[in-house]
Amino acid sequence: MGFLSEALERVAPSATVAISQKARTMAQEGRDIIALSAGEPDFDTPLNVREAAVRAMNEGKTRYTNVDGIPELKAAVAAKFKRDNGLDVTAADCFVASGGKQIIFNALMATLNPGDEVVVPVPYWVSYPEIVRLCGATPVFAVADDTTGFKLRPDVLEAAITPKTKWLILNTPSNPTGAAYSADELHGLADVLLRHPHVHILTDDIYEVLVYDGGTFATIAQVEPRLQPRTLTMNGVSKSHAMTGWRIGYCTGPRVLLAAMTKLQSQSTTNPSSIAQWAAVEALNGPQEFLADWRAVFQGRRDLVVKGLNANTGLDCLTPEGAFYVFPSCKRLLGKTSAGGAVLTTDEDFVMALLEETGVALVHGTAFGLPGHFRLSYAASNAELGEAVKRIQGFCAGIR
Ligand code: PLP
Repeated sequence: MGFLSEALERVAPSATVAISQKARTMAQEGRDIIALSAGEPDFDTPLNVREAAVRAMNEGKTRYTNVDGIPELKAAVAAKFKRDNGLDVTAADCFVASGGKQIIFNALMATLNPGDEVVVPVPYWVSYPEIVRLCGATPVFAVADDTTGFKLRPDVLEAAITPKTKWLILNTPSNPTGAAYSADELHGLADVLLRHPHVHILTDDIYEVLVYDGGTFATIAQVEPRLQPRTLTMNGVSKSHAMTGWRIGYCTGPRVLLAAMTKLQSQSTTNPSSIAQWAAVEALNGPQEFLADWRAVFQGRRDLVVKGLNANTGLDCLTPEGAFYVFPSCKRLLGKTSAGGAVLTTDEDFVMALLEETGVALVHGTAFGLPGHFRLSYAASNAELGEAVKRIQGFCAGIR
């Protein structure tokens, strides 16, 4: 009998670990590393939110809370879904967990059995297929590559659905591509889903506030209210309020699902941190005007990076609608050799050689299910981004 569980055996080790580890080791050795591999805003949590946490601590709000969140936060979540997404929900339709990831984990763990299928558009956020596999279910990959702006087409969705499909996972704006679906595009997917009433939809809207060029964020339960009874709309304060370390995610969905998730959470983490929950109340109810400034900063960085990567490098970079990632193709440079002598057969060879020869850390596309690409996170200062782009351009120019 092996010591480790079979469930764990089904999960692949993080494909991003190797590059992060290499970058850290190189930095420790004194190399000048620019890490554009992380997925978190580089801004501080807003002061009013931090002050709310201090108040909560000083007022003794430091005890266990309801498993599914304090009433005040569930009310704030319901108000947010109403205000921003037009979803007609109350606090009883909402649930809070220790980060958006725990919402996804709870929802899938509470519903999946071996043999069930989950449609996962490719490229995907790395955790989706691994959580599905941990649950003993099967991820079914539906290609959404650069030929469709990294968006799932209705006919591709239709072809991926079988009688075993339990969930479709949507993520807009997307990690790793930054692609954000318009309401029209979501309508196209909704039409397919209406024909398959056994399919539930998990929409990961964690990058909602980061949509550029004056674009309007749309989420599927808002676009097609007939899907709301089988949609779990997930969100969180990690990216919206630069609160990745506070660990608060939230959602709204069918009450039977929320009850199941509450049962599961009651036997795992109990409640999210009481202090972080009070901070999240302030994040959701407090002023949101700062977001316009953040958006402007991120949009400027996106433009700098897209322009630099497309400047005669051999890379092909689409302009994403949102989040803080670009996902360029390096296919035209594969099969060649870097100035440092590395043979660039795969996207992983490309990012490893780039790191070794220039100190810029990116993540290869294969980690997200789509070879021939890499992900660059532009949640970094303009100075760092400008320097990174210069080094990437130099690296590409040296490829023969
Ligand atoms: N969903 C996506 C698409 C993400 O990129 C991330 C974090 O990188 C998460 C969920 C996790 O969010 P949280 O930190 O709130 O668990």
